[in-house]
Amino acid sequence: MNCAACNSHMVHKQGEIELRIGGKLFLEKNVSYQQCEECGERVLTPDVSQEIFNKITKKDYKEKQIIVPVIESNTASAV
Ligand SMILES: [Zn+2]
Repeated sequence: MNCAACNSHMVHKQGEIELRIGGKLFLEKNVSYQQCEECGERVLTPDVSQEIFNKITKKDYKEKQIIVPVIESNTASAV
């Protein structure tokens, strides 16, 4: 499988990834995915995507609070 973004070789990996679905951020642990060696693009296999989608539909997940660092740029409002 090659990367859709840069057509480089993708390698199989396993670990934690983040996905934004319906405006909500989900962390998936111990999932298998393909990662591009060149640009870092990550792609889930259809099986894994389906499994994650099913779990979200059935609310088969734990809600945990995590601390997310938020960076606000000052340059946008600087006049
Ligand atoms: Zn790539």
